Amino acid sequence: MRKFLLAVLFIVLCIALVYKSPFSAMYNYNKARSFYDRGEYEQSLPYFEKSLFADNKGILTRFFYVLALTKSEPVYSVQKNLYNMANSRINDEASSYAKAQAAALRYRLIEGISNNYIYNAAMGNDIVRWNIKSFPLKVYFEDKDSVPSFYIEQIERAMQVWSDNTNFVKFSMTDNKQEAEVVILFKKTPENLCANGYCKYVTAYTEPDIDKDKILRRMVMTFYRTNPLNKGFTPKEIFNTALHEFGHTLGIMGHSDNPGDIMFSLKEDPASMFALYSSAEQSLSLRDLKTLVLLYRIKPTISNVKNLSSESFYYAPLILGSENTVLIHKLAEYQKYVAAYPNMASGYINLASVYADLGDSNSALQNLAVAESLTNNTDEQYVIMYNRAVIYFNSQKYREALDYANKAKAIKNENNVNDLISDIIKLQ
Ligand SMILES: [Zn+2]
Repeated sequence: MRKFLLAVLFIVLCIALVYKSPFSAMYNYNKARSFYDRGEYEQSLPYFEKSLFADNKGILTRFFYVLALTKSEPVYSVQKNLYNMANSRINDEASSYAKAQAAALRYRLIEGISNNYIYNAAMGNDIVRWNIKSFPLKVYFEDKDSVPSFYIEQIERAMQVWSDNTNFVKFSMTDNKQEAEVVILFKKTPENLCANGYCKYVTAYTEPDIDKDKILRRMVMTFYRTNPLNKGFTPKEIFNTALHEFGHTLGIMGHSDNPGDIMFSLKEDPASMFALYSSAEQSLSLRDLKTLVLLYRIKPTISNVKNLSSESFYYAPLILGSENTVLIHKLAEYQKYVAAYPNMASGYINLASVYADLGDSNSALQNLAVAESLTNNTDEQYVIMYNRAVIYFNSQKYREALDYANKAKAIKNENNVNDLISDIIKLQ
């Protein structure tokens, strides 16, 4: 038995020696260079990588590795490795050359679709989108008969506009709610939308249903049956709103900052939406379409398929920059929203999420408190309590976390919060 153990130890040591030694660095570098010198750049990459694994500071290895990357087909793994070399902690010729080449590659990849608002389309640091092979998305209407039939017709027309303007977006109808990827609900208009002479003129909103394994289960689009004055919406209002909301269901989770785009955020505002959505029929802008096309080229972090990956995807940080860059963009977007619409709770909820991602839990909690004072919507109240629970959970304050998780559960008994509660109890 003892002999056997020694043998095992011996083998492990040998492997370590072979892979993590100057000998291995040199051997693999020479092998890589012979491929490289023959112009077989892709074949050289794994040997450069083995050499760098043995010695990550080899100046020549690093430099020729970057050269080989830039001469290879820019598939996902090449983009990722080039980005990592560009942002490596070692400052040398290789990393500065990689920086320039990464910028050039980004430019090349988004050529023709560079006029977009992809920063705002991301959800915090997450890229949310469907697997392109999952189209047509199955759409389910609940309580169709609770609204005039033109509501349904206008919503279907909005779906058709997205399909007509892209070569991959398609929808089909289903009678089975369980299998639907898009669920469309019609809710009674809350009575508390008007206060102090100010009405929240909300027509619809869309929420992603994402489970704790980061799987996108469905998108839920909720329309109110009437406006706050208890009058029905016009066909144009339903169409314009649906066109915007379908952008969310496709994965554009934020808003454009350009009034020409259907995903322009301020269109969700009471006053401007009333004016804009009622005045003219809206259409998709080129920027909306380019944003969607780019979104569907980037590897998602949240999708309906687990670990969706392909060498043909784009590496998100190469396109969007580091996580912090993305969050700073988001922060600016939501601050603008809150400044323009200080009475909308959703702006503060979004702002709080970004602060939480940036590690500033005090600012996150302050914004959630403002949001709480502004909303009577149970969906928003649930999110506020749930997010508070998560913030306290992440700062290891399990008593507060459990308290808020229970408050969220009292509002809506959802899987998310039940999972969180069992996690807290395990760690407490
Ligand atoms: Zn929106």
